[in-house]
Amino acid sequence: MALYTRDSIERLRDAVDMADLVGSKTDLRRVGSRLTGLCPFHDERTPSFSVNAQDKLFYCFGCHAKGDAIGFVEQTEGLDFREAVEFLADRYGVELELENEDPQAESRRRRRERLLALLDRAARFYDSYLWESTEAARARDYLAGRGFSEEILRRFRVGYSPSAWDRMLLGARQSGYSEEELMAAGLAQRGRDGRSAYDRFRGRIMFPLADGRGRVLGFGARQMGEGRGPKYLNTSENEIYHKGRQLFGLDIARAEAAKSGRIVVVEGYTDVLALHQAGIREAVAIMGTALTQEQLAEVGRAASTVVLALDADRSGQEAMLRASRLAEERGLELRVVEMPEGTDPAELVISAGAKGFQERMERAVPMIEFQVRRVLADADLDTPSGRDKALGEARKLISAVPERTATRDALVREAADRLDVPAAALSAGIRSRASAGPAAPAGAEPAAVAPTGASFGEASLAAERAFLASCLASGELGREYLESLSEEHLSSPIAGAARAHLLSSFDDPLASLSEDEPAVAALVNNVAMAAQERHPATEPALRMDFLNLELRRIEREIRRADDDSRRMELAGARQQVRREMDQVMGQTA
Ligand SMILES: [Zn+2]
Repeated sequence: MALYTRDSIERLRDAVDMADLVGSKTDLRRVGSRLTGLCPFHDERTPSFSVNAQDKLFYCFGCHAKGDAIGFVEQTEGLDFREAVEFLADRYGVELELENEDPQAESRRRRRERLLALLDRAARFYDSYLWESTEAARARDYLAGRGFSEEILRRFRVGYSPSAWDRMLLGARQSGYSEEELMAAGLAQRGRDGRSAYDRFRGRIMFPLADGRGRVLGFGARQMGEGRGPKYLNTSENEIYHKGRQLFGLDIARAEAAKSGRIVVVEGYTDVLALHQAGIREAVAIMGTALTQEQLAEVGRAASTVVLALDADRSGQEAMLRASRLAEERGLELRVVEMPEGTDPAELVISAGAKGFQERMERAVPMIEFQVRRVLADADLDTPSGRDKALGEARKLISAVPERTATRDALVREAADRLDVPAAALSAGIRSRASAGPAAPAGAEPAAVAPTGASFGEASLAAERAFLASCLASGELGREYLESLSEEHLSSPIAGAARAHLLSSFDDPLASLSEDEPAVAALVNNVAMAAQERHPATEPALRMDFLNLELRRIEREIRRADDDSRRMELAGARQQVRREMDQVMGQTA
């Protein structure tokens, strides 16, 4: 995908009014030379959020959230870099230019734009057909019978596809789309004879599946009545639509999720409609699949707490463990709402009301805890082999929780109690995380970010990754900052090795990348890709990034320090770093 020109990004950056942008999310007051306010990223009563309007940077002394104008939009709106750039360009009236595209890339982009326009046209057509045709009367009755208001159905652009074989095909052709394009967009298909094309969706309630910005990529379609075919029919995997990445309602839930810091993942379309109608507007659906890594990454961009209101028995334990690890790596908190057996969120919100559902959400437990409890509850305690099996499973789950955390201690105690083994014996068998993977202890002050103690922040890893990418994107200045970093600033040996590689092949880190150490190669790759998306950072931005890692380094040392005088010394150093951050934030405002 072509990038926006550096010049576009510079003009955009000049055009942004930082006080206005941040002021739209939190009230700012001028204190001395800088602007402060309550942090939009964490709950607080006294302002620790600071804005440097001149350099257009923000930093929170409480939760360490930080960045520039684009980063602010990424984090508050749950958008990626490119989307955030487009958001700001809209808001401040800046025209963006794409880098010179090669002709092939340009024609791919044009084709994609045409297919997206076609899909949007289809969504509009189905939408008006639902409300205006006599044929759709039964569908309207059915939806009303499920308790959905016209307002909520219109907000999600729910529609109806005519039962005729070719309405979409004929209409789109008249508007200048080819049969091939209709097929590529997943709206038409060919019969067995391989020649005649016909509409894929007929006589069905249509749920448009959009990306985070509301662009329709495909459809989910529910059969009405006794027609042929499966009850639910979706767009097949194609050049636009990828099932594993899709979440129904993400475009509509995104802003609310970014604001509340929480996103609720449910099973189906009607769960999403019911929850939104009940005022729980941060709900999205995975539509009957197991939660994929890509989906988790998507929801994780929208909010840092992901609440699953799914049938937990359906998703395998292995998949949930993988999800837990990924969540942790991304600094996400994964929680599970316990649902009454055989009830889905749509039913629950009807029977217990929005308040009842909210209460259950408040009681949602961290994923690992949920899994451990389930293992303990299901354990066959009467036989030694049953107990051994449960012990093995519990150990494996608990190994995913960082050591020396209250959560881990509590789980060990609970499991030991229930399985009637000494806690120490249970602990001893748990694989240490050092050998389990590249993840490392947290960096941020957990109390400030996550009162529940569950977000043990792979926040560190994310901050390190972001810093390495900024350096790589910032030429000579970036190289200097990369050099000034020491091994101690990085929370894992893998990040240390990645830094060494970046330094030795700064100009083209991917060219000489060895695959001997896959974890290092993956990180370098990740950083290099992120760097390509970035614009060069300003000196104050790099300085803030560096100080942030310095702060995390000191905090790690404080946690490891075992005598008071050392701790005092470190606390002094921490104070020093904070003062310097303060200066960077206020120096030119
Ligand atoms: Zn904060």
